[in-house]
Amino acid sequence: MVTREEETQAAMIIILLGAPGAGKGTQAEKLVGEYGLQHLSTGDLLRAAVREGTDLGKTAKGYMEAGKLLPDEIIIGVIKDYLDTHKPDGVLFDGFPRTVGQAEGLDVILAGKTYQVVSIEVYDKAVIERLSARRVCKSCGRVFNPALGIMPPGERCDCVDNGEIYQRDDDKAETISKRLEVYHEQTQPVMLYYRSKNLGLEVDGSGTPDQVFDRIRKALA
Ligand code: AMP
Repeated sequence: MVTREEETQAAMIIILLGAPGAGKGTQAEKLVGEYGLQHLSTGDLLRAAVREGTDLGKTAKGYMEAGKLLPDEIIIGVIKDYLDTHKPDGVLFDGFPRTVGQAEGLDVILAGKTYQVVSIEVYDKAVIERLSARRVCKSCGRVFNPALGIMPPGERCDCVDNGEIYQRDDDKAETISKRLEVYHEQTQPVMLYYRSKNLGLEVDGSGTPDQVFDRIRKALA
């Protein structure tokens, strides 16, 4: 007999919220490993589209470089396409929803399925420090961040391609402040939307990635 716990486990859906630089990507990797979920990061999907030069990528580029959000209908379309193609059993949404409109759109897509919402809380000052220090491997996408004690192996990554380690254009100072402004104006209300549905677990995002992950695990338990 399948227990209720196993049933929930099989179709676990987690929505991970938090400011840019709160550590969503790092925690997402740990969560997908722990709970066997597919990681759906809209930022990663958009960056791949920009690299590949698709129509979506051409549209996304300008918004991303300016630190602005793409229109809801485009992002909701991206999510629908992803779910239709991959049909994941369990999924972790990272960087989505970022507006109340997207949260409402996701509720329509999920059609009554249950989900959990975790918000990683960090101060703006910490966000600025972390984003300015963040570096990424151009080849494998691995993220390094000396501000979090995650040091790059050298000038180049130690992945098979020895990828170049670079700073994302939108992690430069002028774009960071725009992204934070957008977060406060458009994304913080998403947490209020979930709180009004009695969802939303707030987790302190300070400390090491392992400490934050421990808090998330306890909150989800
Ligand atoms: P991220 O890596 O999640 O910080 O996303 C990088 C950029 O991609 C954002 O600053 C936006 O320009 C765009 N983006 C990512 N996710 C979304 C979303 N859910 N809605 C609108 N724009 C997004």
